[in-house]
Amino acid sequence: MSDHGVSGRVALVTGGSRGIGRSISEQLAAAGARVAVNYRSDHDAAASTVGAIQSAGGTAAAFAADVSVDDEVERLVQDVTEELGPVDLLVNNAGIFDYGGHQETTAELWRRTIDVNLTSAFLVSWAVKDGMIERGYGRIVNVASIAALRPRPKSIAYAASKAGMIGLTRSLAEAVAPDGVRVNAVAPGLIKTDILTDVDQSVLDGLVEATPMKRIGQPEDIAGVVVFLLGDDSNFMTGQTLVASGGRVTLP
Ligand code: NAP
Repeated sequence: MSDHGVSGRVALVTGGSRGIGRSISEQLAAAGARVAVNYRSDHDAAASTVGAIQSAGGTAAAFAADVSVDDEVERLVQDVTEELGPVDLLVNNAGIFDYGGHQETTAELWRRTIDVNLTSAFLVSWAVKDGMIERGYGRIVNVASIAALRPRPKSIAYAASKAGMIGLTRSLAEAVAPDGVRVNAVAPGLIKTDILTDVDQSVLDGLVEATPMKRIGQPEDIAGVVVFLLGDDSNFMTGQTLVASGGRVTLP
């Protein structure tokens, strides 16, 4: 299979142990990248992902860290650098989702959502960007959501956090473009992972019905887009957001 230009590169995938992040980790390793699989607390899931990559002949290691916490991010990047090498490819994928109306959107939920989904992307990007600039090579992909692009009255904090990720993507991309560092985002639609556990099946059925392709996405549908954005096939792209939603959201 094509190595997409990522072979031998060190990739850090936040939330790389489950769902979309697991598929990204697996596809990057299959293309020859050396993959740091970050997770917060589910050690078994991280061990399973790393085990699957190694069984397939790839290189991966698991790193526990809460990416919303400054000093845990600092330690994470130090550990990855010592064990695998400096980070060339970063995927800010770790995220949380709450389904509920404005009455349930407390200040606590707001802060936690912004911290885990948005501040984490800032912290990890800032921990690796100067090294990328020094080496004249770096790729960052932020996993946003179509929730950033349409009103989401049942997930206000989440939608705001993802819109923030797109703002971060566009501005950081322009700042570091002259230094050989590209920053892009992907905005997935509905993807079958554990993050949807608290959403009623009837709601999910309605969303699939509203999707022109009439199906829920799989983690692989997003991982392919991420690998494209990290690899050489997208070498003239930066600051962009690619939507992968089965046609549910289309941009002009
Ligand atoms: P998931 O299956 O729930 O997996 C979440 C991953 O993030 C896990 O590896 C989890 O690790 C990790 N994580 C959560 N909080 C963390 C923290 N503070 N520090 C480090 N790792 C943390 O979710 P998913 O559906 O794959 O979502 C991945 C990304 O895609 C998220 O940013 C999400 O917003 C976005 N997205 C998902 C959908 C969808 O429909 N699924 C749609 C649009 C966008 P532990 O297991 O150890 O907690």
